Amino acid sequence: MALSHDVLVVGAGLAGMRAALAAQAAGADVAIVTKVYPVRSHSNAAQGGINAALNPEDSWESHAYDTVKGSDYLGDQDAIEILAREAPGAIVELERMGVVFNRDEHGRLGSRNFGGASHARTYFVGDFTGQAILHVLYEQLVKSGIRTYNEHFCSQLLADGGGAVAGVTAFDMRSGEVLQIGARAVVLCTGGIGRVFEPSTNALICTGDGSALAYRAGAPLMDMEMVQFHPTTLKSNGALISESARGEGGYLLNSEGERFMKKTAPNAMELASRDVVSRAAQIEINEGRGVDGCVLLDVRHLGAAKIMERLPQIRELGLEFAGADMITDPVPVLPGMHYQMGGIRTDVHGATPIAGLYAAGECACVSVHGGNRLGANSLLETVVFGRRAGAAAAEFASGRKAASLPESLRDDEERRLRTLVERPGTERTAALRLEMGTTMTRQVGVFRDEPTLRDAERKLALLRERFAGVSIGDKGRLFNQALVAALELDFMLDLARTVVAGAIARTESRGAHTRVDHPRRNDAEWLRHTLCHHTPDGPVVSTAPVTITQWEPTERKY
Ligand SMILES: Cc1cc2nc3c(=O)[nH]c(=O)nc-3n(C[C@H](O)[C@H](O)[C@H](O)COP(=O)(O)OP(=O)(O)OC[C@H]3O[C@@H](n4cnc5c(N)ncnc54)[C@H](O)[C@@H]3O)c2cc1C
Repeated sequence: MALSHDVLVVGAGLAGMRAALAAQAAGADVAIVTKVYPVRSHSNAAQGGINAALNPEDSWESHAYDTVKGSDYLGDQDAIEILAREAPGAIVELERMGVVFNRDEHGRLGSRNFGGASHARTYFVGDFTGQAILHVLYEQLVKSGIRTYNEHFCSQLLADGGGAVAGVTAFDMRSGEVLQIGARAVVLCTGGIGRVFEPSTNALICTGDGSALAYRAGAPLMDMEMVQFHPTTLKSNGALISESARGEGGYLLNSEGERFMKKTAPNAMELASRDVVSRAAQIEINEGRGVDGCVLLDVRHLGAAKIMERLPQIRELGLEFAGADMITDPVPVLPGMHYQMGGIRTDVHGATPIAGLYAAGECACVSVHGGNRLGANSLLETVVFGRRAGAAAAEFASGRKAASLPESLRDDEERRLRTLVERPGTERTAALRLEMGTTMTRQVGVFRDEPTLRDAERKLALLRERFAGVSIGDKGRLFNQALVAALELDFMLDLARTVVAGAIARTESRGAHTRVDHPRRNDAEWLRHTLCHHTPDGPVVSTAPVTITQWEPTERKY
């Protein structure tokens, strides 16, 4: 029997679950397709917290302004205003659903400091905030009875005769069976593209599948050059040491024991925005004041009791992957790929330019983060814009008849996947993936210039050609992870090229994008978004204006 729903959400992280619940509340029949069980989504890894101007002395305007400034004025201010205005309600809603946020000694919700914020407005659960929220939303999902296609890999978007999105194909990894699922509206909530870089703080599943599907279907990807390098990641495996370490009072030191942030951000110091801190740390390393390619994160002065109460998980990460106990030793850290500010362009209701296609969460670019995301604004974005996208998708679905898609589309997709599994070849997915990731880290990192980017562009084009020769070792149907990995690499190769294309096009330095050959921000020409359009020959870049409501661009100082 043909499967069909009013609204189909792809992805079951925070954005996906919030979107599904909102669509159901608006009266739609909803289902979720997810390649991992919902609670294994990367949202689970979020450590530091979620922002809202909830204290009486704080205001949504202050939160919005900090976000605009953090974005280096590339964020769209209408979207940022919505984010900041809806934040307090979103936190209270999560709390009422059951998220046990930290409370202060008076029993009130307690917040911590975070980078780039003028007030302590980050609400948290220890250093595992994402896990706490994800599990509570999952309870709501179970209660709702929303159908979840777990361990189903969405491999394609389907369109009706008029070009509107009308469903997806997905294969059940447990059986290998391909399904065709019709939908009057599809919401992509497929998360970040972290694994385009190697290493990354992101889970191995963060391969940008939905972003690539939308891009191939004709939706532009916006500001893809805006990749966040988090200042404190571990050298051995790229794992994140949360900003909460600095939020709680941690220092960054160079090999001379100097708090080097005083040179670039004398006021905010270690709590300047992430782009500023990452650049400063990378300069220390590049100019020979690093320690074995790292700088040092020192929280010893906080004392064992506070570290164990507020930072237990990251202490464990330091112990296990850097051999350093934060209670007694500084931990070596370096800037590493953490977050993609860019993504599928949407309006403030999550709508993409393709009828019936919506997006929210890290895969989308609405754009609230612009050139640089403030820590703890991303969890907020998932719930605020997840809810809005789910509601808008339900409304769109209610006004549209279900398209009758031919059943043969399922058979076509099955054939395509079979051919991929059976084709001969000598290339290995893992080797190409590693080459792509290390090229991106070395050549499209914190500091960039045209010749190095052009060389990366050439290397990626060659990797795309070599992908045609990939042989999939596992010829079976059940849990064919080799097939999944090849499909993910196929997506990532497209996305890597959009990051490089955006970085070549943007001949200025703004936010996380630093061009050493164009060291200044250039508002006259580049107070604009880049848009990457898919063509068979690779990405083509155009630009679009930034929405300014009340904050005119000025120089950014911390
Ligand atoms: C280590 C770490 C710490 C972080 N800490 C913070 C923090 O403290 N505060 C903050 O604000 N932000 C933080 N972030 C960022 C934030 O966690 C993410 O941006 C956010 O959780 C993304 O949520 P999402 O719902 O968009 O996607 P995800 O949670 O990544 O979920 C993606 C979903 O898409 C599904 N999916 C993907 N591809 C397919 C496919 N082909 N078919 C079917 N399903 C698919 C997956 O199964 C998954 O369910 C952190 C990120 C990392 C990596």
